[in-house]
Amino acid sequence: MEEIPRIIGAYGNIDADTLMICTAGIHGNEPLGIEALRKVFHILERDQPNFKGRFVGIAGNKRALAANQRYLSEDLNRIWTPDKLENATNNRCQTPDCEELKEICQVFDQIDFTQYHQKIYLDLHTTSGENGTFIVTTQLAQSHYLTQRLEAPVIIGLEEKLKGTSLRYMHDQGFTSFAFEGGQHQNQQSIDNLVWSIWYTFLGAGCIAEDIIPEEVAQYTHLQEFTENLPNLMELEYLHSIKPEDQFKMLPGFKNFSKVTKGQLLAHDCQGEVKSPDDGYLLMPLYQPVGSDGFFLVKGAQAVVGN
Ligand SMILES: [Zn+2]
Repeated sequence: MEEIPRIIGAYGNIDADTLMICTAGIHGNEPLGIEALRKVFHILERDQPNFKGRFVGIAGNKRALAANQRYLSEDLNRIWTPDKLENATNNRCQTPDCEELKEICQVFDQIDFTQYHQKIYLDLHTTSGENGTFIVTTQLAQSHYLTQRLEAPVIIGLEEKLKGTSLRYMHDQGFTSFAFEGGQHQNQQSIDNLVWSIWYTFLGAGCIAEDIIPEEVAQYTHLQEFTENLPNLMELEYLHSIKPEDQFKMLPGFKNFSKVTKGQLLAHDCQGEVKSPDDGYLLMPLYQPVGSDGFFLVKGAQAVVGN
């Protein structure tokens, strides 16, 4: 396989008011985000649409992508912490994943964040379970004008549980930040979902007019159909953290947004049965060997969100 460049593409005027940075493959077993970015840049280069903004697409964990593993030594989406960032930027990396962090920071260093009024960060992911299309954001109200167009439930309370994400780091750099989970790792439909999310983020950000959206994207309705019967907003109710010695094993057949009831058997571990602590929807049931989160339980939520 050809090597993935760190910068997948860049489009639009550097002197624009809006900067949109999009990362993909921060988890190395999620290559479809890279495919989605390539597709979007292909269309941009082909059609050369009028674009009010600067759009930069960046590859995440290239070494892990080459190995098709979530990460090599440590999760690249858990090491955006002050101490690890300091190691990375001062050439004191001890893991290949830290080298990745360093290289991504070097790309950021070439961009003057301060010159842009509107800064948007979109992080593309896929999940091991089926039907995983949802949005995770650091700030519901600030990102609402973008996420409301994206036809995927917004999950609140989840990002706060995850330490050292790129999302939080970019938020702290002044970016309106959200992650789009586009579906299952190997499902080609995830590419279409992610491509769709990028174009409609362009639209929400005012980078493009609606008639610029390519027909094949505008006519894509899978996300609307999938999310029709789900609450727009959901809140994290419970996170089942695991360690390797727990020997956690999810029962087969669960998907993202599978409805479960309190007391329902969900998994087994070395202690015996793992049951759902409440009614709700399952999120990210673990069907891959590596991971520290067994599953998440979310519930429909109400929030007053200004436009
Ligand atoms: Zn991921």
